[in-house]
Amino acid sequence: MEENVKLYNTMSRKKEEFVPVEEGKVRMYVCGPTVYNYIHIGNARPMIVFDTVRRYMMYKGLEVNYVSNFTDVDDKIIQKALEEGVDSSEIAQRYIKECEKDMEGMNILPATAHPLATQQIDGMIDMIQSLIDKGYAYVADDGTVYYRTRKFTEYGKLSNKKIDELEAGKRIAVEDQKEDPLDFVLWKPKKDGEPYWDSPWCQGRPGWHIECSVMSKHFLGEEIDIHAGGEDLVFPHHENEIAQSEAANGKCFARYWMHNAFLNIDNRKMSKSLGNFFTVREISEKYDLQVLRFFMLSAHYRSPLNFSAELMEASKHGLDRILTAADRLRELAKTAEGSLTGNERAAVEQIEDFQKKFDEAMDDDFNTADAIAVIFELVKYVNTNVNEQSSGELVNTAAEKLRLLCDVMGIVVDQQKEPLDAEIEQLIEERQSARAAKDFARADAIRDDLLARGIELMDTREGVKWKKI
Ligand code: AMP
Ligand code: ZN
Repeated sequence: MEENVKLYNTMSRKKEEFVPVEEGKVRMYVCGPTVYNYIHIGNARPMIVFDTVRRYMMYKGLEVNYVSNFTDVDDKIIQKALEEGVDSSEIAQRYIKECEKDMEGMNILPATAHPLATQQIDGMIDMIQSLIDKGYAYVADDGTVYYRTRKFTEYGKLSNKKIDELEAGKRIAVEDQKEDPLDFVLWKPKKDGEPYWDSPWCQGRPGWHIECSVMSKHFLGEEIDIHAGGEDLVFPHHENEIAQSEAANGKCFARYWMHNAFLNIDNRKMSKSLGNFFTVREISEKYDLQVLRFFMLSAHYRSPLNFSAELMEASKHGLDRILTAADRLRELAKTAEGSLTGNERAAVEQIEDFQKKFDEAMDDDFNTADAIAVIFELVKYVNTNVNEQSSGELVNTAAEKLRLLCDVMGIVVDQQKEPLDAEIEQLIEERQSARAAKDFARADAIRDDLLARGIELMDTREGVKWKKI
């Protein structure tokens, strides 16, 4: 079935048919965040996009081995640790936990493996050593190890850059211990107060690019199917990963390179200094994170996406329309009975056609914008054609189809089903009544009780919301 999927390969700059290394399986690596703070909504875009790619591959019957790392040693983490006077591993652990909460809220499936850079230092030392042995890397006097960029003759093939043009742009920043300004760091000596590891060259830490080459190989093998991340990673990060991995392994590193375009805010680049910077956590105070997910998928992943309050409101309304249709079908299913009537066969065919259209959209480089449009068509159709007179079989077919297609998008339509949720809702109501009666002790006790059971209540403008913590 996978032969139907076409995806845009940054390497070839065209849409290609997806043919995995191993039939029926997908080996996928997505560069993850550097954990020194709460993740921002830009970081959420690749998480949501590539989780949806994964879900679609699974829906197609493929087994997906999905690896996404956390960069837990880096200048920004070290800086934050120094500011707080704690160990950098404490900062990393704290924000990995927070990131995992956000990912759960956005309904991102847990990766098959979520490796940390600091757990793979031995593998990095091995790969660096093999690059030195093969002449692709050299050790400077202070123990820094550099990659000899010009030696990798295909350098620039992903970003479509010519090595001489790159060289010209670099001339001013010549560092004297490099043989060539284009050479990049594989290993660097420790500085005071920084975490470090022993190595054959000096006590120090790895450069950023080597971690992904090593973790991808460790968990997925030398040749993988899909390597993905935001478009800012094409150069130099992914270009350098290719140079490292292909020189070390002598094999194609990844068959397909996928990159999401950037998320902007109010048509400007997101930045703290412009004051248009949002963390996922901030958004979760106002919206269910499913709304954020739905919003992200409303555009094609290779198109820039603009975030604004109006667009989030529009996404909230759109999502509500789908959830309301699913609720209505669930209600109808409680009393509807019997198998399809003659007239209803055409309705089932129509519903199947929606699924075909959905598949066509997704097969075409994961066009989630069009796929969501098909979900809306399905919703409109069932709202007018499935009702109290419908047979149980038709109601269930419609409900299952809607649930299935939403599931590919990572949208859960039957959250309310869990008994636990009903209990929470009831306690929230009790708390509201207690507050209205000015029984604040009781209201607080209910909140604390829920908190102890891992449920956090949030008083928002739209009423009380809750989330699992
Ligand atoms: P970082 O922690 O900066 O390495 O980023 C983690 C991931 O988020 C990478 O794949 C980046 O390309 C991606 N990313 C960062 N900012 C944005 C943005 N504004 N829009 C889309 N993706 C982004
Ligand atoms: Zn990476």
